[in-house]
Amino acid sequence: MDVAESSARLREARSGAWWFARWPSPSIAAGFTDRSCEPSQLLAAVRTPVAASAEQVHGSSVAVVGSRRGRSPIPGADALVTNVPGVALLVRTADCLPVFFADPARRAVGLAHAGWRGLAAGLPARVVAAMRRAYRTPPGELAVAIGPAIRACCYEVGPEFEARFGPFVQTRGSRRTCDLIGAAVEQLRRCGVRPERIVDSRACTACDTQRWFSLRREGPSTGRLTSMIVVRP
Ligand SMILES: [Zn+2]
Repeated sequence: MDVAESSARLREARSGAWWFARWPSPSIAAGFTDRSCEPSQLLAAVRTPVAASAEQVHGSSVAVVGSRRGRSPIPGADALVTNVPGVALLVRTADCLPVFFADPARRAVGLAHAGWRGLAAGLPARVVAAMRRAYRTPPGELAVAIGPAIRACCYEVGPEFEARFGPFVQTRGSRRTCDLIGAAVEQLRRCGVRPERIVDSRACTACDTQRWFSLRREGPSTGRLTSMIVVRP
């Protein structure tokens, strides 16, 4: 995958939370939990008491979070964007992709929960469009990061995925796998995001269930990783 060489810039804080180190600028913080820590530790690390979350219905709806006092979780939304400092955006995942968006110049951020349904419905592209509309963010200036998710090594799919994800489905013998991360990067590239501005955690939730939660490996009753992005207050 043709993404930034800076992909390894992940750092584990003492709290157990993970951060995209110095990404993309000191005024924005983005990170996620593993099995060992709570979402509250993420919020406390950036001294952000206000959080907005999405209902997450595997749809393609993006909500603009415009104030510190809104309803949360936001009904029907799978992605959130904001430029309000101190409002932390949250999504929860266990195999689906947490996709982080940041426009450091305009101090605006976005966060999406994208599984195969969200990707097929163009959710990453819709976040790019929403940020352009709400904050005049040129797609070429967006920084994007991808958190822990199920990857081609583990994501076995049925033949119906070939029509949806074309070159991102690989068949070896009777085993058919799909590279959702590759599909997300291609979708972002097509709407003007520069591949060198995309950072990937490279963590596979299903490969390492000691550290991450995986719905595929552990079933629907497993926990969820929480991802967060915030414009620092
Ligand atoms: Zn894997």
